Amino acid sequence: MNTSNKPFEIARETLRQLVARRVPPTPDNYLALYHQIAGTAPQSEAFPGKWLRSLNSGLPRSSPDQLRLARQLEEAVKDADWDGYKAHLLEFITALAETQKLQWAELIGDLFKRLETRHHGLTAARKREALEHVLSGSGSNPETLYNRLTGLLRAWGQGREDEAAAEEEEQTPAASAAPPPSAAARDNLLPQLRQLFAFTLETAIATQLVESPELSSAAKALANDIRSARSNLQLEDFLARLKRFAFKLELLAEDRAELRASLLGLLRLLVDNMTELVVDDRWLHGQIEVVRDLIGKPLSQRTIDEAEQRLKEVLFKQSQLKTSLLDARDAIKQMLAGFVDHLADFADATSDYHDKIDACAARISAAEDITALENVLDDVMRETRIIQLNALRSRDELRATQRRVEESEARIRQLEKELEATSDLVRYDQLSGVLNRRGLEEMFTKEAARAARRQAPLCVALLDIDNFKQLNDAMGHDAGDQALIHLARLCRDTMRPQDTVARYGGEEFVILLPDTRLADGATALRRLQRELTKKFFMHNNDKVLITFSAGVTELTAADDQASAVKRADGAMYQAKEAGKNRVVSV
Ligand code: GH3
Ligand code: MG
Ligand code: MG
Repeated sequence: MNTSNKPFEIARETLRQLVARRVPPTPDNYLALYHQIAGTAPQSEAFPGKWLRSLNSGLPRSSPDQLRLARQLEEAVKDADWDGYKAHLLEFITALAETQKLQWAELIGDLFKRLETRHHGLTAARKREALEHVLSGSGSNPETLYNRLTGLLRAWGQGREDEAAAEEEEQTPAASAAPPPSAAARDNLLPQLRQLFAFTLETAIATQLVESPELSSAAKALANDIRSARSNLQLEDFLARLKRFAFKLELLAEDRAELRASLLGLLRLLVDNMTELVVDDRWLHGQIEVVRDLIGKPLSQRTIDEAEQRLKEVLFKQSQLKTSLLDARDAIKQMLAGFVDHLADFADATSDYHDKIDACAARISAAEDITALENVLDDVMRETRIIQLNALRSRDELRATQRRVEESEARIRQLEKELEATSDLVRYDQLSGVLNRRGLEEMFTKEAARAARRQAPLCVALLDIDNFKQLNDAMGHDAGDQALIHLARLCRDTMRPQDTVARYGGEEFVILLPDTRLADGATALRRLQRELTKKFFMHNNDKVLITFSAGVTELTAADDQASAVKRADGAMYQAKEAGKNRVVSV
């Protein structure tokens, strides 16, 4: 039947056969007969790429497993690989059913059991707090919640096992004879460990490596490997590759540390040069010193934020000063240039005058009658009057220039004063270098929001120097200022880097202590008091003992800055009443 390979001839023959065989001319019948005549196999149905792509685009991707499935399905659609598509989908659904069926019930049962069990070093409240933290921090993703809960229970279980092991040790001195954990327990843990390992590689590590796509892909590939590794051989291979990966990661960490050090070096260089450039202004030098100090310490988000704020202030103030000073200097330059031009004209006019007088003298010697002399005299008088007028004008102009220079100088002084006043707008106290009230407000808002978000405690302390008026009266206001600087520096050095220190008013400071419970906050303030007795304030080579009274309080959900500071102030007042140099917590 296959008379020709030409499709149109096969088509014509197909139509002829349909009529001859009296087969109804439906598309299916036509297709079957066509292939019969052509001697070809009927083509399988076209791959429904368009529909599958549309399905893929709607798949959730909020967990590593979901993300992996979406990517696998995308690959399968790209390769028009129906079998692959089906296999990935089935694998995912089976695994999901396994997880859901198996472990939630077990996990919740375990949770109840362990909440009631006594664990070494863990109070019930502490456990509840950790549990709340996990519940609120896992969003709406059941897998994340599952993993975190598992991790939490494992941590509690670790405590119990340690205790159990300790008890066993007491009973049987030969500790090494203690039986190993049962194989069943280990088998139970293994899938969790595998899952957590894969999750860490895929989510925690790979996402940190966006700037190194190769390593990021390697982390994802390793995550896939550990998920599917079952045999010892596969595990050994995985370990070897993991080792290589860790080595590369270490190299990358070294590179990054080097990069960070160079960036810091660059920043230091900039700051150093800025000190050279800045016009003589003590305030700016002080601020730059603080920035240099900050970048000299171990880096944290807070220190970087603080350095940035301070640099912005320095740059703002410097640019203002520079523009104003340049304007004023230009004005003076222009005036002087005008005056010099005028002097030159005057000099020209004077030498002209001398020439003319010389000529007159010659004419006088040559004069033969009185009329000629009169003419010469008229000329001499006229020239002298002109030069007199010139001299007068020059004197007036000199005076005017002098006046304008004085005005410009006054304007510069006025500008500098105004600039000093703008420091009220900035966030740092000029005397002590710690935050001022405005800066405290900003930090309080940030810290209070952070504490609420993480459900972490936040302490607010207010301290007031004892008998500061006496110190001022006895040693002078300057000594008082130095004492304030000393205390502020000691606060910064003694408190943790994440604590905020701010000058609240004259001799009052507010300290914010994140992640700190009331009792710990009071302890921190007492430590600061002890430091103050060790690191004396020195005045004219004399040791001067400064003490302070403080109130500490813990922020509640209903508090704002004013109410928290007011409570701390009340406690501080109680400390004063009770004899000063003490800390009261409320
Ligand atoms: P108490 O122990 O009750 O706190 O007594 P005190 O003397 O410390 O408190 P008082 O409120 O009577 O006096 C505070 C003094 O602090 C008065 C004020 O002159 C001084 N002071 C405020 N700001 C500064 C400052 O910036 N520099 C100096 N040198 N003194 C300041
Ligand atoms: Mg006071
Ligand atoms: Mg005081």
